[in-house]
Amino acid sequence: MAHADPLAKYNAKRDFSKTAEPKGERAADAGHRFMVQKHDATRLHWDLRLEVDGVMKSWAVTRGPSLNPDDKRLAVQTEDHPISYADFEGTIPAGEYGGGTVMLWDDGWWEPIPGKSAEDLEEGHLHFILHGARMKGEWLLIRLKPRGKERNTNWLLRKIDDDFTGGSDDLVENDVTSVKTGRSMAEIAKGMKAKELASWKKLRANSSPGRGGGPRSGGGGSPQPSRSPPSSARWSIPSPPAPAGSTKSNMTAIAR
Ligand code: MN
Repeated sequence: MAHADPLAKYNAKRDFSKTAEPKGERAADAGHRFMVQKHDATRLHWDLRLEVDGVMKSWAVTRGPSLNPDDKRLAVQTEDHPISYADFEGTIPAGEYGGGTVMLWDDGWWEPIPGKSAEDLEEGHLHFILHGARMKGEWLLIRLKPRGKERNTNWLLRKIDDDFTGGSDDLVENDVTSVKTGRSMAEIAKGMKAKELASWKKLRANSSPGRGGGPRSGGGGSPQPSRSPPSSARWSIPSPPAPAGSTKSNMTAIAR
């Protein structure tokens, strides 16, 4: 699934003299990072990103992920992002692509279900396991057949029934601060320094915010969330979210 420059689209959409987002450069080694950025752009959405072949494959989940296996959440595929984008939290200037506030909402690593592989994405499906601070267990991504003149590639994200299921709005309603800095969207938007916040000190104190151990135990406590991926241990570099669109015009603005 490697193309000449999978990040050409990402770079073309951005003016790096105006946004703090990182330039897109493909990573050399293979990793399995997973992360989600909550993005308050034209329309609020959650950008789910999975590291595949040196880039972050990305989807804008319009209503946010649901822990209820009965829910199928629209996930609009957006352009591949650089691995460095996975550490980006802050504000993209108004008027720039994806202008708005970006929060590091979840972080960790992912792996395909035994016997499956990231190559399944080419076939339009992926059954995978997330080891995040908030999203855990088995999940499924299924690509929808294009309808009419839709410009976007739409997928559905669904929780698979396991020990990590929950209510439809549990994640979106209960997890409203950054896993990296403990800041709320408003605090990020105001540019407040994480260290000035009580929530950050609390985050540092309870390194593992009661998120059930596992490979990823560092919680969002440290600026460099810990994780133990299967292989490569290259986990750093920041970037913001991608735009998305969905069925209709209102979806087109999702990521902006
Ligand atoms: Mn976005």
